[in-house]
Amino acid sequence: MKALYVHIPFCESICSYCNYCKRVPKDALMIDNYINTLKKEKEKVKGPFTTIYIGGGTPSMLNKQQLKSLLSIFENEQPSEYTIEINPESYTIDKGKVLKEYNVNRVSLGVQTFNNEHLKKLNRLHTNEQVFKTISSLNSLGINNISIDLIFGIPSQTKEDLLNDLKIATSLNVTHISYYELSIEEKTLFHLLYQKGLLEPISSDLQVEMYETVISYLKENGFHQYEVSNYAKAIKYESLHNKIYWSLYPYEGLGAGSHGFDGSYRYYHSENVSEYIKEPKVIKEFQTEDVLYADYLIFGLRMMQGVSLERIKSLFNRNPLEDFKELNTFIKDGLLVVEDNHLKPTLKGTFLLNKIVEVFV
Ligand code: SF4
Repeated sequence: MKALYVHIPFCESICSYCNYCKRVPKDALMIDNYINTLKKEKEKVKGPFTTIYIGGGTPSMLNKQQLKSLLSIFENEQPSEYTIEINPESYTIDKGKVLKEYNVNRVSLGVQTFNNEHLKKLNRLHTNEQVFKTISSLNSLGINNISIDLIFGIPSQTKEDLLNDLKIATSLNVTHISYYELSIEEKTLFHLLYQKGLLEPISSDLQVEMYETVISYLKENGFHQYEVSNYAKAIKYESLHNKIYWSLYPYEGLGAGSHGFDGSYRYYHSENVSEYIKEPKVIKEFQTEDVLYADYLIFGLRMMQGVSLERIKSLFNRNPLEDFKELNTFIKDGLLVVEDNHLKPTLKGTFLLNKIVEVFV
């Protein structure tokens, strides 16, 4: 299995909480030049790719012609899962037809919340009407594998607001939900406001209560949790692309801020878009076996299926229960469990995962 990630770093405006690699493009030429660089870079990476994921930024802000040029770079690939991220305000049926023409079979839609006041706070530009229209337009084109991104823990959000978001989300014709907890990251507007005392995050007790609500509400409504922040309507709708990352399979990254992994080395592209267009450079770092072992455990325990003790033995010839004695205490405390030769988090363990994985670093 091998994945390909393609980063489109352009956005129409910047969201208050976002610390991803993104910028508002100078002009249309900048996007054209970026796509030309991606085309040259693609020649340096080798498939076949099990999955392709075009993320951002906002790939849907490309115009129809730019979208065609971008997707034509990958037209000879035959991934089983081919995802693109879309924002509702920049989707059009014509762009949807281009996705269909180039065999994109999965869309990840940036929704975040259905509450207008919170959308404004997050500086998101779309309306709920645009979300509903995008989903029904994609469905009409036969693109039915749709994931939506949502956020909980928005400042001033109440449990009632969250339940309302959950109610609308589960009424939509979508197969997958990524539900992230808002965290206030450096170099964001929220961080600046927080430092000035102008933004009050919700309490940590309410965060935990909200997370519990998300898990139980989605479960009751047919979405099983398969990773800390990800829920699918059936196993076939779990994101294969992400599972490749989390299981330490190799992947390539194209575009500013992207990274790749070949089994021994990780490489990183600079986040500077102009630099990337001029001359994409990568920093390569050798990954020692200890680092890979820790990564495998950290990523693997985020998945409800946990980590396979058998695969750890074949990859590293190690046993984490012997190497990290604290894990046995976590098992006794009901945070972890060993089942079918997999070490996995319990529901209680999911809430304390950050604490658990501290033992690996
Ligand atoms: S959250 Fe997405 S749309 Fe908003 S600024 Fe970040 S990358 Fe752009």
